[in-house]
This record gives sequence, C-alpha cells and structure tokens, in this order.
Amino acid sequence: MAGEPQPDCLFCKIVAGEIPSTQVRETETTLAFRDISPQAPVHVLVVPKAHYPDAAALAEADAELTAQLLREAAAVAADEGIADKGYRLVFNTGEGVGQTVFHVHCHVLGGEGIAMRLG
Ligand code: 5GP
Repeated sequence: MAGEPQPDCLFCKIVAGEIPSTQVRETETTLAFRDISPQAPVHVLVVPKAHYPDAAALAEADAELTAQLLREAAAVAADEGIADKGYRLVFNTGEGVGQTVFHVHCHVLGGEGIAMRLG
C-alpha cells in the first residue's frame, strides 16, 4: 500500500530508529536528520515518515504531506541559522541525476561557500 514502510529502505530504517542518525527535528509525519556525508556546512535531509520513492510520487499521493515536508525544510533552515542568507532545497529524482536512496528526501543545504560549490 502507498506510504507503507519498506523492509529494505534505509530511510524507513532511520525513521524506525533501527539505524542511528543525528536528528534535528521531528513531527508526527516527518523527520529531519544530518546527512552522513555533508556537501555544505549545513546539510540536513527531511523525509516523510511514510515511504514514497521520490518527490513526484509523494506529490501525486499526498499534497498535504508534501506541504508539511516543505514547511519542515524551511523550519530546519531557520533553526540552523541559514534562512537569512538563503539556502537550497534539492530533491534528486531518478538514478540519472544521482538519487541513491529511493525514499523521498529534501536536501537542505546552506552556509558559507554554498553558492560557489553548488551554483
Ligand atoms: P540522494 O543522492 O539519494 O539524493 O541522497 C541520499 C543522501 O543520503 C546522500 O547525501 C547520502 O550522503 C545520505 N546518506 C546515505 N546513507 C546515509 C545514512 O546512513 N545516514 C545518513 N544520515 N545519511 C545517509
């Protein structure tokens, strides 16, 4: 069924607490945790607790959860002190652009040097 946890999904395991992560925010429906291999001074991943493979599938299935995910991404940016200078939200969608974990996640990227590195 759509949204059900998938046994072989890394981020479902992080959501379930079976794999440790450095969590920065949690709501009833979302979890935010630091990327294990940060590509910017601030690099946090925000995921819905429900399993959807990518942003397109999530948006198709649940508009409210999509909005909650984006609100949480903005809240992470505010908490991390990067909202004022600007930050980047990235949803890699598909293997062709490097998506490696097929549980939708929003990369929240910001901090010094981010424009040079990713612009
Ligand atoms: P993607 O390439 O699918 O958009 O991003 C997957 C992200 O998950 C990568 O930035 C990668 O560093 C991160 N990642 C992979 N495995 C783990 C893990 O076990 N824990 C955490 N916190 N991040 C992970």
